[in-house]
Amino acid sequence: MKFTIIPKETVLLNPLQEMRRHTVANEIRFDPLTGRSSRICHFMKLQWQKPDLQALAEQTAPVCPFCPERVMRITPCFPPEILPGGRLVDADRVLFPNLAPYEALSAVAVMGAAHYIPMTDLTPDTIAGALGLCLAFFRILEQAGHPESVYHLINWNYMPPSGSSIVHPHLQVFAGSTAPQLLREEIAAARAYRQAHGAVYWEDLVAAERAEGSRYLGRIGRTEWLCAFAPMGVAGDVVAVVDGVCRTLELTRQDLADLARGLTHAMALYDEMGIFSFNMNVFSGTQEDEDFRLHLVFSPRTYFNQAIGTPDVGALQHLYHEGVCLAFPEEIAQRLRPRFAGR
Ligand SMILES: [Zn+2]
Repeated sequence: MKFTIIPKETVLLNPLQEMRRHTVANEIRFDPLTGRSSRICHFMKLQWQKPDLQALAEQTAPVCPFCPERVMRITPCFPPEILPGGRLVDADRVLFPNLAPYEALSAVAVMGAAHYIPMTDLTPDTIAGALGLCLAFFRILEQAGHPESVYHLINWNYMPPSGSSIVHPHLQVFAGSTAPQLLREEIAAARAYRQAHGAVYWEDLVAAERAEGSRYLGRIGRTEWLCAFAPMGVAGDVVAVVDGVCRTLELTRQDLADLARGLTHAMALYDEMGIFSFNMNVFSGTQEDEDFRLHLVFSPRTYFNQAIGTPDVGALQHLYHEGVCLAFPEEIAQRLRPRFAGR
């Protein structure tokens, strides 16, 4: 397992210190699986100001399509050959097709009746329940033998900085025969890793991270938690690997509960930093991908400058696919680890 770091130094004359020579360290890291690179730089204090989220909630609720008074009236239905009944309902959770689909089978899962749930009020039950609804949908597709029921993927954009246009908590649910770019790269790299080392990459990764310790967070059930060595997010990424599981449909109810619990630990820490938004993606293989392990990546999102609407993704990330992280992942892990100690 190679954790490659290229250290860099920037020399400048600092106007804050009478133009004395000033050296700023930063580094470039490479993901051990794909080689995807990430800059660790700036080393600022990870602290942001939250806007008035209650006001945002109140302002968006009257026209929200996912609120209980509208969701069963104005959201679309699947045709009966895909989903008899049109929508999938479980208590106050509803799954229906996305009116603006990203895939042949592209759904939205509304996580409950509440229009706005602050990040720290998202409970393990709320999260696990919504993930369970997505799995129920995937199971129906699988049993019907739908040709697009190959990769079963769940994305979560929570609050506007993450790319979400709707405040009401919801998941994006995809089933398709074409994996997205990074997932495709990971599947190919995992296969090559198995051929070169005779081992499953994620099993080696967890073993290496556990032994080294600086990014390892803990284990809940059979979910292993760590901070990414080369994160994509400006405040690091939290990764969960599920032992022995290759694809979404192999997750048990207990796995969902354990993943949900770990996510709430991450949310609690990032809330302390003033972060109120995140992306979360499930990376899943197919039945054939025995060398793949299901993992999810939780990546906090923020505004660089809220007053003028500056997002935390610029040209470096968007067009070079280069990660930028403003602190050492090991320092973020140090702050997260105590939360995982109590499981
Ligand atoms: Zn709503």
